[in-house]
Amino acid sequence: MVIGGGPAGITAAIRCRNHHLKVLLVEGRKLGGQLNQLYPTKYILDYTSYPEIRAGYLADLMIHHARYDDVAMMEDSIVTSIDREDRYFRVTTGNGNYRVKAVILAIGMGLFEPMKLNIPGEDRFEGRGVAYAVPNMELYRGQSILVVGGGDTAVENAIGLSRVARVTLIHRRGSFRAIESNLEMLERSLVEVIMDTELKEIKGDKNVRKAVLFDSGTKTVSEMEIDGVVINIGFSPNLSLVENAGVENDGAHIIINGPDMHTNVPGIFACGDIVEYSGKARQVLPATGEGVTAAEETYKFIRSPYWVGEKQGGVVVDKEKCVACGACMAICPGVFRADENRRSEVKPGVDLNLPCVDTAIEACPRNAIERN
Ligand code: NAP
Repeated sequence: MVIGGGPAGITAAIRCRNHHLKVLLVEGRKLGGQLNQLYPTKYILDYTSYPEIRAGYLADLMIHHARYDDVAMMEDSIVTSIDREDRYFRVTTGNGNYRVKAVILAIGMGLFEPMKLNIPGEDRFEGRGVAYAVPNMELYRGQSILVVGGGDTAVENAIGLSRVARVTLIHRRGSFRAIESNLEMLERSLVEVIMDTELKEIKGDKNVRKAVLFDSGTKTVSEMEIDGVVINIGFSPNLSLVENAGVENDGAHIIINGPDMHTNVPGIFACGDIVEYSGKARQVLPATGEGVTAAEETYKFIRSPYWVGEKQGGVVVDKEKCVACGACMAICPGVFRADENRRSEVKPGVDLNLPCVDTAIEACPRNAIERN
């Protein structure tokens, strides 16, 4: 099962199908992930082969590709738990339970919630001028819009909106986080940029009318007439699913230690925005690449390549022979761990049919590990 229908999940599911694995992709909201849910009318400018493509159109192409390859997909179906059941996982969704051999978590920012400023007027005007995403730029035509934030999301939304609206972008510091090419476009756009400025209050009647701004340089407060506010200051992750499945995370992302998209739980792989590792880039292209890797590793896990046959019985480590070199633990960390003398031992209750067990047995310089 692939959980998450964004670029990473869709690509992983297609690759699983190419390997003739039986795959079901489950998406909690709408297929296409953030591309469709947050900014379908925004232009994506860094997807190779399309110098400029609308996010929603790119999502449609990906969904079409998955359908073309007969990937089974289910929308509006929230996964509530993943539990180990013998050699399988029981996945509980809003539309029934499934028993699967492996899971690929491609859940983006989880069932992400946009971060709020928690200022007066923000909740009162949500949906009546206050927004956290721009699903349809056309709704803003001819309006005066204030965009808040200094990352790529805020900068890209400000540039996109400036094609149809009068846009002011404010950022709380003196420098942006966004990528240089976005900042170059911002400079060339009609967006008015105000740095070192915070939004302190949103005022209005039925709809938003005014923003109260605080200039942290001059320490002055001013009011600006506006029709709407787009707040793009990041997202709060919701990792309850990951947490309950026992997948190692830092409260915001799943931690991956190698380039193989393995989580700490054998049989659960992860890819896309939810994943964190050294050198991680949160863009569509690397997410799709990670999706392919996760699918390849899933294939190896499920099918075990032909040179690794079905195994019976257990795996034993001869402590007399073991020289605590750590090779088996590095190769197959899901199965081998160090004992109090740093010698290898087999973790209890783990899947001994993992292909890496045989690789570790072969790699042991003292032939200290055997299947029995
Ligand atoms: P982000 O990079 O985390 O930026 C959030 C921005 O909001 C920061 O500038 C931050 O200010 C500001 N902020 C946070 N809390 C605030 C508060 N209470 N009041 C005022 N400002 C506040 O979030 P994002 O822009 O949504 O991007 C998320 C990730 O997706 C990033 O890795 C980004 O590069 C990536 N992304 C990439 C692309 C692309 O490659 N085309 C497009 C969109 C997103 P400070 O800077 O002062 O902390």
